[in-house]
Amino acid sequence: MGGGGFNRTCLKCRNSIEVDQDGRVVAHDRPVSRFPCHASGQLAALVSVEWGPGPRRSQRIAGGGKGPRRDRRKRTEYLKPPEWLPNYQGERLPTIGLPAKGWFSVWFPAHTMWEHERKLSGWVGSDRSLRWDGHEKCWTVSSAHFPRVSRELLRRYPSVLIGREYNPRERCNSSCQNAQGFLCTCSCRAKYHGRGKWRSGWRTLGEFSGLRAGRPWHWMAVSVAD
Ligand SMILES: [Zn+2]
Ligand SMILES: [Zn+2]
Repeated sequence: MGGGGFNRTCLKCRNSIEVDQDGRVVAHDRPVSRFPCHASGQLAALVSVEWGPGPRRSQRIAGGGKGPRRDRRKRTEYLKPPEWLPNYQGERLPTIGLPAKGWFSVWFPAHTMWEHERKLSGWVGSDRSLRWDGHEKCWTVSSAHFPRVSRELLRRYPSVLIGREYNPRERCNSSCQNAQGFLCTCSCRAKYHGRGKWRSGWRTLGEFSGLRAGRPWHWMAVSVAD
């Protein structure tokens, strides 16, 4: 096993990981998913592995050969999970947060701010539906694109965290239950909204509620249903 005593963080899943003598990331699971992390078994030099403080220079990747591939330890500044983003079972999942009003927030792991922008604008097809929120420290997207963005995230990640602001005092009635679309602030936490059509094809892995900036939010970790 690699040098030991080093802190290495897998930038795919943010777990702390080990690198073997061949310089490969030791297989590790993501708690929430049925799959091992994508970085498992890959060359640590190729997947981005964050090296913690320690004698890094002496710990060159072995077995990498002397080819043209240099020690690419570029300091890529991935966009940090914004403060409002809750942990799910100790993990930071790709996350969408739907506020009661306005654009929704998005964050996903191991992408720079610029990569977030590029991916999101590719998915929604326009830069106009995209805005950096300097206060929330994340990209926001106009609400009409929620189905697309959630679909794209679920295509790439085994699980996604979907949050929405809700009003505990708003009665769930037929206008919620017969609604179209996905926008909802009802006390049912959108469970009965449009008879739940907005989340058809998803499997709920877990749910919780909490306050975000003093307001009630409901969160659900979802994956694509088998
Ligand atoms: Zn409702
Ligand atoms: Zn509703």
